[in-house]
Amino acid sequence: MNTKIYFDNAATTALCSEALEEMLPYFQQHYGNPSSIHSFGRTAKAAVEKARKIVAGALHCSTSEIFFTGSGTESNNTILKGAVQYLGVQRIITSAVEHHCVLHSAEFLQSTGTELQLVKVDALGRPDIQHLEILLSNSSKKTLVSLMHANNELGTITDIKAVGELCDKYGALFHSDTVQTVGYFHINLQETKAHFISGSAHKFHGPKGTGFVFIRGGTLTQPLLHGGAQERNMRAGTENVAGIVGLGKALQVAVDNIPDNREQVYHLKQYAMQQLTELLPGVAFNGDTSAEGSNYKVLNVLFPFHPKAELLLFNLDMAGIAASGGSACSSGSEKGSHVLMAIGADPTRKAIRFSFSKYNTKAEIDRLISELVKLFAPAKTSATTV
Ligand code: PLP
Repeated sequence: MNTKIYFDNAATTALCSEALEEMLPYFQQHYGNPSSIHSFGRTAKAAVEKARKIVAGALHCSTSEIFFTGSGTESNNTILKGAVQYLGVQRIITSAVEHHCVLHSAEFLQSTGTELQLVKVDALGRPDIQHLEILLSNSSKKTLVSLMHANNELGTITDIKAVGELCDKYGALFHSDTVQTVGYFHINLQETKAHFISGSAHKFHGPKGTGFVFIRGGTLTQPLLHGGAQERNMRAGTENVAGIVGLGKALQVAVDNIPDNREQVYHLKQYAMQQLTELLPGVAFNGDTSAEGSNYKVLNVLFPFHPKAELLLFNLDMAGIAASGGSACSSGSEKGSHVLMAIGADPTRKAIRFSFSKYNTKAEIDRLISELVKLFAPAKTSATTV
């Protein structure tokens, strides 16, 4: 019996053992509320602050600029809605390939009077920087630009340093959804002129339900959630102490190992690309697949026409291989991918996102390829092999 294979690491990742070990005492032993002043509370508070230090160290910013949240979704909502509500932002510029938590927040704000403009994206899913400059120069309205670092469906990377420079030139605020890149790429906030970025622990082998937002030097000081004074009045609600501890440890492990992880995982992606190209005629790839221009963990494959292509994800699942069609955050929904639509990908062909991690192996890629070759075999051959 073959063991199952998990190729959906852009949707979520397995918790690393280092993070689990660090988290465990915070469930039954150090369970104090960080807002309490007794020793239990102080222990919990110290753990939260230690994690904050790790995040700030990893991103080259101050601990006072890091706020823990419940998810990447919450972080992105906090920034977009906070910018309009508290910072006088009258216009949001984003792109059609953003994650729904950005796009739907922007659309909600549009419904309440904020201007929304979409910067063009090219066939790989990269924002058109010249178009962004035209949009920025065309209006004096206070503007927030929100463009993601790496696309979750395609893996395509945006040069957020260049976007930051441009926003700076026109006095616009810049938010980048870095949920898919924190822990995978070195992000230096001394060099990248972003006012806000967001992260989510479960994308880098930390626990689910814990995220953070970076807010540059007091740019935004009012919360989305009102209540207690947690997170220096920026995010009410008792902290998920174990989650935050796990986020800190997972990020530490991830950042310390970026070069090795990158080499190992990119090697798997390259191998998968090479094998698919060789053994499945007509296969193509969506998004940027280059070493420099893409997230090394994501590979979006456009399959050739075949009667079995329609049920490909289902068939792979039956074979014990988990992957995702479009964005896994909306997997299960029958709606097509807004990202693939935005880049003009062939809507009649099946696209599947495979996303790899350090826990995957070359042997697993071999099994994937062999299943795909079986599935895509001409009808006559497949009848004898099924
Ligand atoms: N932003 C991007 C690019 C994502 O890929 C995701 C999750 O898939 C999110 C935001 C949302 O993160 P969370 O699952 O922590 O809400």
